[in-house]
Amino acid sequence: MTKDWNTRTKLVHDGIRRSQYGEMAEALFLTQGFVYPSAEVAEARFISSGPDEFIYARYGNPTTRMFEDRMAAIEGTEDGFACASGMAAINGALMALVKPGDHVVAARQMFGSCLHVLKVLATFGVEVTLIDGADLANWRAAVRPETKVCFFESVSNPGLEVIDIKGVAGIAHAVGAVVVVDNAFASPIFSRAVALGADVIVYSATKHIDGGGRVLGGIVLGTREFIRGPLETYVKHTGGAMSPFHAWILLSGLQTLDLRVRAQAANAAAVAAAVVGHAKLARTIYPGLADHPQHALAMAQMGAGGTLLCLDLAGGKAAAFRFLDAMKIVSISNNLGDAKSIATHPATTTHKNLSAEDRATIGITEGLVRISMGIEDTADLVADIRGALDAA
Ligand SMILES: *Cc1c(COP(=O)(O)O)cnc(C)c1O
Repeated sequence: MTKDWNTRTKLVHDGIRRSQYGEMAEALFLTQGFVYPSAEVAEARFISSGPDEFIYARYGNPTTRMFEDRMAAIEGTEDGFACASGMAAINGALMALVKPGDHVVAARQMFGSCLHVLKVLATFGVEVTLIDGADLANWRAAVRPETKVCFFESVSNPGLEVIDIKGVAGIAHAVGAVVVVDNAFASPIFSRAVALGADVIVYSATKHIDGGGRVLGGIVLGTREFIRGPLETYVKHTGGAMSPFHAWILLSGLQTLDLRVRAQAANAAAVAAAVVGHAKLARTIYPGLADHPQHALAMAQMGAGGTLLCLDLAGGKAAAFRFLDAMKIVSISNNLGDAKSIATHPATTTHKNLSAEDRATIGITEGLVRISMGIEDTADLVADIRGALDAA
């Protein structure tokens, strides 16, 4: 809406559409259909619809459009299309970009469902090469003239490896490939993905954007040509649209996104500093710590260490379980980005379906616990986590 506003202002005001009632809060247009004043108007709208003209909620809805416009404004893309979940967004982005015979290069340090989508693409004749994405030499070696997409999580789930968006974009663009970034862990607050060369940015809105673990949602962001062209065509016809009710919840989530994410990152940094070197830990993994392998990259790319950290307990699964069970503030659950602190044991939950060997290649040990820091009091969190480590 207003390009010279800063993020916090955009998060509250951008994209708002007011009805004739001048309501202060974003209105929830819980309607799938729209009434046309005449048959002629209906005919015209199906040929081309203006910015305030809607047809069917699977194609678009005023509340959903407010969410799309606000997200595009804060990410700095021309447009966005809201999807039913982060996975609907990732599936939509990839399906809209590739056809049989195309080649995709992707980082193997990835959320299990993202790997599943790549497996489905492979069954339809898309060749997929999985690499260790943290090393740019692997991207250079894997791309070919028929490479259509380079796809990765900018910060990997759960290992917190940071992938160099600018570096991959340079390699991808040299062969004409599109860079698709799953930016869920960075969140829009720590994203400079457009400036660094990403073409398509995807979020699971279920995470930091909701911030309260209430609804599923996702969004694909990019150029107007891509979003209102192949992406919208694919998603609107295959049913991956976001519910207007979810868009309404997510719009209110966006208002506090900057406040929450910065508080979460400050808590993560404080906890990492307070536990690093603890006798029960084999490793403390946090991009904001100087010993993280991509610390300098994380700081340049995100300006912060992020809201998640991983603690690798030296005593393996038994110690990890004792640690999880001893925490009183931090809940055991597999969501992330929530105002409430959440811990999960990837080896027995989110990444249970990978073989032990595959888990080992992406750094998921039996002792690894992923913590998504919430916005609770810092001293309370440090005491809870340190106390549980002592007990583990
Ligand atoms: C959660 C998550 C997804 C999937 O999002 P949903 O909203 O659960 O569909 C994709 N990528 C990453 C990195 C995630 O953390």
